[in-house]
Amino acid sequence: MSSEGTTATPKLPQAPTRVLSGIQPTGRFHWGNYFGAIRQYIDLQTAGESYYFIADLHALTTVREPDRLRGLVHDAAVDLVALGLDPDRATLFVQSDVPEVTELTWLLMTVTPMGLLERCHAYKDKKTRGLPSDAGLFTYPVLMSADILAYDATVVPVGEDQVQHIEVCRDLAGTFNHLYGEVFTLPKPRLVEGGGRVPGTDGQKMSKSYENTLDVFEDLAAQKKKIMRITTDSRPMEEPKNPDDDHLFALYSLMAPEADRLKMADLYRRGGFGYGEVKKALVEASSQFFAEARSRRAALEADPERIESILAAGAERARAKARDVLDRARRACGLARDKAGKPAISGQPADKPSGKGGRA
Ligand code: ATP
Ligand code: MG
Repeated sequence: MSSEGTTATPKLPQAPTRVLSGIQPTGRFHWGNYFGAIRQYIDLQTAGESYYFIADLHALTTVREPDRLRGLVHDAAVDLVALGLDPDRATLFVQSDVPEVTELTWLLMTVTPMGLLERCHAYKDKKTRGLPSDAGLFTYPVLMSADILAYDATVVPVGEDQVQHIEVCRDLAGTFNHLYGEVFTLPKPRLVEGGGRVPGTDGQKMSKSYENTLDVFEDLAAQKKKIMRITTDSRPMEEPKNPDDDHLFALYSLMAPEADRLKMADLYRRGGFGYGEVKKALVEASSQFFAEARSRRAALEADPERIESILAAGAERARAKARDVLDRARRACGLARDKAGKPAISGQPADKPSGKGGRA
């Protein structure tokens, strides 16, 4: 078997670290989303090639108002760039701008056992709770697999709850490769650490569904009111308290510089202070923490064409990559009638001069 340099034995791209992550535009980003997910995704943009998409196709299973969806997609893009996603470094795009992904979803669907999807918890949970579900929710892990495989992603940063879906993706990619040859790159999940479980204003996990969120770009006056109403326990002021089991302190810790955090922890242990003081300190610390992002956001909002051009450029880069992968998959499973190596899909030819095709 000949080695490198031949076109006769096409190889999968020897992937460097290629990071992919998507986030659903189902509401405005809150502190839990930022510390639990977005911050780590942004940190990973320096780890290698990276793709970040706004998952509007996934959001369609929950957001049914077109204008609201459009608004949420726009806001998500502006928010991500304001929070530090660098469009010159990472490819930022909207999921539905790459229709190749939906075609790839079908190809994967044909090798997806029903039982595999029936075991997936997002669908199972809804079913157990007797809530209505649709085929979109049921097949969500297949679309998610296509999202990942379309870009030859090697690393997918996820929360604990998404690890199962990465396993599904590896499973489907493995089956397809087994049937048709080495088409897909198998991704690995990377557990996102650091944010843990950010508490909401009522002490439960912060979550849109619990209506206990503090949003990253909320109006400051409105947010101050919410912070001042964060639930606290009713122990007397004099009593020393353990900072580590207090959700108000947990929120303050995320926002305050280390020295202030240590001082506040001391105050807790000594006692003799009021929660009102901690809340005021949290108002101050959080407004400082996101001040830069807020001003970047204001600048972006003042120039709406900028975000659109970022998304258009991102879509173009993402499509070039996805076309290449889809082309490989189509040829491999026998859809492309032209075995000779010409692109058999519509649109521009994929931008790779060699090393693809010919597997059918
Ligand atoms: P929903 O209530 O619809 O589930 P949500 O507010 O929980 O929404 P998601 O869209 O489920 O937000 O989460 C997006 C990302 O943010 C996920 O990676 C999730 O793990 C992370 N995340 C959400 N809430 C928190 C939280 N309170 N602490 C840490 N991470 C969180
Ligand atoms: Mg959630």
